[in-house]
Amino acid sequence: MTAIPDITLNNRQKIPQLGFGVFQVKPRDTAAAVSTALQAGYRHIDTAEMYGNENEVGEAIRRSGLDRDDLFVTSKLSNDAHRPGDARRAFDESLKALGFDYLDLFLIHWPLPTRYGGDYVSTWKALEECYRDGRARSIGVSNFQARHLQRLLGESEIIPAVNQIEVNPYLTQDELRGFCAEHQIAVEGWSPLAQGQVLDDPTITVIARSVTATPAQVVLRWHLQRGDIVFPKSVTPDRIRENIDIFDFELSAAEVEAISALNRNERTGPDPDTFDWL
Ligand code: NAD
Repeated sequence: MTAIPDITLNNRQKIPQLGFGVFQVKPRDTAAAVSTALQAGYRHIDTAEMYGNENEVGEAIRRSGLDRDDLFVTSKLSNDAHRPGDARRAFDESLKALGFDYLDLFLIHWPLPTRYGGDYVSTWKALEECYRDGRARSIGVSNFQARHLQRLLGESEIIPAVNQIEVNPYLTQDELRGFCAEHQIAVEGWSPLAQGQVLDDPTITVIARSVTATPAQVVLRWHLQRGDIVFPKSVTPDRIRENIDIFDFELSAAEVEAISALNRNERTGPDPDTFDWL
């Protein structure tokens, strides 16, 4: 079985650095994809209430026969549930949908600075309660910019364990990653393959040939060697296996640098400062 390294979070909990993401996986395809991932050796699954497939993730985990304690499962708060009472209820509903009595990690999915009077602090305090009662073993945020984090650091008690943000070779996020490192907030990079858009890049395809790996494997290795946590998504069994088969080669420092130099500050997803979808 592939040895996936763990990252130790700021509360000493461990998280596998490579996981499996299920954004845009249809509910009817989710249990099969997650089962394939678990068989391939993934032990970390990233879902969200807004993905509409928590039930099926839970079903695949139960069917796998694996110990719940050997898995790391993340879910995220729906954008329409930021008011504290709604956030508490939404957390309960995520647990119920997954069929679990705890989550390894629960995140505020988006800061929504233009909604709820810009108040993500009271939402965070509701997550702090879930952490204190032990049902969320770690809590964190997603799509938070440095100033959103700065405000949480100033106005609440628990430092987020992670910030899950868009990161790929065209969006290296070095400034925000630096801020997170300074405050012991681990970075999770979402859409690590830019949904496939970086895989034809000549710098990446040339490196892939030289290390005898696929472009997707090279990009995932780049993320891991920079220290970020990633969870690529696929519903294709061969790709699911390909994306975890990245522990028998290493990129040189120059190769990591060459890929980082592709940065264009170009997002594939929404801008967290203006995203307001409920
Ligand atoms: P991704 O970068 O993982 O790309 C997935 C796509 O890349 C696939 O649909 C497929 O087209 C292609 N692909 C995957 N493996 C491949 C391979 N080996 N070879 C060739 N092509 C391959 O994109 P994603 O699903 O958007 O992101 C991954 C995970 O990040 C999500 O599933 C979700 O868990 C998380 N995410 C979080 C947020 C957030 O706001 N917090 C937003 C988007 C995604």
